Amino acid sequence: MRLVAVVIAAAAAAVGVGAAPAAAPAPGYSATVSRVTWSELRFSYRAGCPVPPARLRTVRLSHWGFDGRPHEGKLVVNARVARDVVAVFRRLYAAGFPIRRMVPVSAYRGSDDASMAADNTSGFNCRNVSGTSRWSLHAHGLAIDVNPVENPYVRGTRVSPLAGRRHLDRGSYRPGYAVEGGVLVRAFASVGWRWGGRWTESRDYQHFSTTGG
Ligand SMILES: [Zn+2]
Repeated sequence: MRLVAVVIAAAAAAVGVGAAPAAAPAPGYSATVSRVTWSELRFSYRAGCPVPPARLRTVRLSHWGFDGRPHEGKLVVNARVARDVVAVFRRLYAAGFPIRRMVPVSAYRGSDDASMAADNTSGFNCRNVSGTSRWSLHAHGLAIDVNPVENPYVRGTRVSPLAGRRHLDRGSYRPGYAVEGGVLVRAFASVGWRWGGRWTESRDYQHFSTTGG
């Protein structure tokens, strides 16, 4: 009888009785840095932008989705921060941090509003700081917005994107959030980038940049 019990126990262990079926091991983090292509810049670049296309790079990298699966995303950034960006997203991948989608803003015809509404994580976009005539750090490829719906831009009663209104209570952490001390803010801080969630006149929870601007 003892042998039977052992066999049954072994069989139970083999099928994982009492536990969720073992998931296939997740693929490891991978990232590549390459020259940016015209299709990735077509609607986000124009003559007079503060950095030439030759100084921009496309970073293809692994990220987790809200579906609990790994995906490949693409970020266009300044060549001089490409390695730091790879390191930031390696940390996020290791932590299982979810990112909705990650495609160059050109896919939204360069519209920051459309990109934000799609909850798209993005870097380079040759545009001004909203409501000003100053270049945004996005126009230098030195800023990245992460999960804009979960991490909206808030100024007074204005919330961008509109769907971000569901995420104005920053006290209770939800997946994909940028919060003080959280994995996202710490990952960017590890390469010296600063967070727009610390601004005072407005709060740009999605925004990370080299200088904090
Ligand atoms: Zn931004």
